[in-house]
Amino acid sequence: MSAPPDGPRVAGSRLVIGIDLGTTNSLAAVRAGAGATPHVLRDHDGEPLIPSFVCFEPDGRTLVGRAAKALRLDHPERTVFSIKRLIGRSFADAAEDARSLPYPIVGGERGLPRVRIGERDYSPEEISAHVLREVRRTAELALGQPVREVVVTVPAWFDDAQRQATKDAAGLAGLECVRILNEPTAAALAYGIDGERDGTVLVYDLGGGTFDVSVLRIEEGVFRVLSTAGDTHLGGDDFDALLGERILAALPEGARTAAAADPYVRQAVRRAAEGLKIRLTEASSAELELDLGARGTLSVAVTRAQFEAAISPLVQRTLDCVKRAVADAGLALDEIDDIVLVGGSTRIPLVRARLERLCGKPPHTHIDPDQAVALGAAIQADVLAGNDKSLLLLDVIPLSLGIETLGGAVQKLILRNSTIPTSVTEEFSTGVDGQTSVDLRIFQGERELARDCRQLGDFQLRGVPPMPAGLPRIAVTFLVDADGVLRVTAREQRTGVQAGIQVVPSFGLTRDEVRRMMLDSLEHAQADFRAREAIEQRGKAEAMVRGTRRALELAELPPDQTYAVHKAVKALDRLLTDDADADALRAGCEELTKLTSTIADDVISSAVTKALRAEQEGRA
Ligand code: ADP
Ligand code: MG
Repeated sequence: MSAPPDGPRVAGSRLVIGIDLGTTNSLAAVRAGAGATPHVLRDHDGEPLIPSFVCFEPDGRTLVGRAAKALRLDHPERTVFSIKRLIGRSFADAAEDARSLPYPIVGGERGLPRVRIGERDYSPEEISAHVLREVRRTAELALGQPVREVVVTVPAWFDDAQRQATKDAAGLAGLECVRILNEPTAAALAYGIDGERDGTVLVYDLGGGTFDVSVLRIEEGVFRVLSTAGDTHLGGDDFDALLGERILAALPEGARTAAAADPYVRQAVRRAAEGLKIRLTEASSAELELDLGARGTLSVAVTRAQFEAAISPLVQRTLDCVKRAVADAGLALDEIDDIVLVGGSTRIPLVRARLERLCGKPPHTHIDPDQAVALGAAIQADVLAGNDKSLLLLDVIPLSLGIETLGGAVQKLILRNSTIPTSVTEEFSTGVDGQTSVDLRIFQGERELARDCRQLGDFQLRGVPPMPAGLPRIAVTFLVDADGVLRVTAREQRTGVQAGIQVVPSFGLTRDEVRRMMLDSLEHAQADFRAREAIEQRGKAEAMVRGTRRALELAELPPDQTYAVHKAVKALDRLLTDDADADALRAGCEELTKLTSTIADDVISSAVTKALRAEQEGRA
């Protein structure tokens, strides 16, 4: 056996590789130290792409990659692909995607989807773990050493549950996912856009079954996703289908219906169509001889112009998404500094030309588009391994951070998936008259109520001068630095008194806990919303009772109006002591508002009349 092509690495340096876990294809890449060029890791045939296919054969064997993809016709119900469409989602959310897949998907415990193969149900994480294990095996063979630590990429729009599920899949494959990285960020890194220079990057990713466009802003080394758009059901597969129809159309009518009904022929036509498509990227026309066995042979010629005409409307749809993403980022097309191509389908000349025409500048093309994400992940992996100190680390906050407000609700200041470093300031006030100290309790989690979130710490702001409730202006700032450390400060704006605390939010929280908290928040979203609404409505009603009572003392109202307001205030107060629900409280508040607003008008107009009269009398 010859020496592994990628060679053993220098002893002592830590090995972390990058993995692009794709919907259609997956692959790994590695970089050895700053300044080195990252490269993809190939299997013994020199092939870097591993189809994200897993086939559970009836005899108990499990095949992954090309071998599995080849069996999709023999075992359509046992060959799993596009699992990325399901990972980290609930069965209900993924139902539409599930229907488009030929293998059976059922609802499992906690409302999560499961792939049913024979007697056994598999979680999407388990399926992805099979793909990751194959990627790992390929990488280890290429490197000639074991691989444990990895950076795995995900679409920018993946939510926390999807990111966590991806991490869990890595864990199942015996890998430690040291970082989840956004695919567009990885692609930008691969193209040498490494944050040294501030700018705006458009990442156009057209793969096998999905299209994603992201606008990234790079500022002082931090990559921020400004917007994303796309179509989860648009990609190279659709181009294959269009060409496939063309091929079938070349058959005589009788044979065509028979062929279209035969899954083997359909599949053979699809595969031939993909080959034809790929050849049309280089050539201006291509011919196809399709051996249909007993059905004879079929020969078709397609020109690039014909192919382009067929896919043009689909390409136009991607351009509409680009326009939307750029607009959502608050930018104009000419404010984009760099355009980066990702995904095998961006090799198609028409795609490049139309994108260039839309943006008014050519996209970068010097990186293989189906390797860009893995190569970028390898750069990030190498940085994390400590072999390159020049790049700033990128990270996102896994769970939202906030403080407890009146009645036990949590006001979120930093939302999950925010890129760090980040800082947010919001103003709060006191809930009780004459309050001179404020307790601040910091929580992490997606749930609406403090008791359902995780408390990270608390502190007290003292020395607030006594004022009526609602008057002090307390600015609370949450700042998460590049190392993930959270600093919370509270400052009373009039007097300048302040206090603060420092916590490390991710410490002490296992992956399972993060995942559980995410799932909990999904499960309880409705109930939480109602509970929070009740608390907020209670707060409003309490303030109203207090405020109206005070106003009654000050205002000089005729006795009948005073009586009416008193009565309404008392009724609202009664609802509060009876612990009435949000709707009843809202109705009570509305009732009181109606009453006081007409009175307010009366009071004001009488005050105005009084003032006018005084003025006239003075003049006279
Ligand atoms: P994903 O990100 O979905 O895993 P990839 O980025 O690997 O997908 O892209 C796969 C798609 O790219 C397939 O539809 C494949 O046919 C297409 N593709 C690969 N090479 C070419 C080419 N030269 N011309 C046109 N399409 C191509
Ligand atoms: Mg991809």
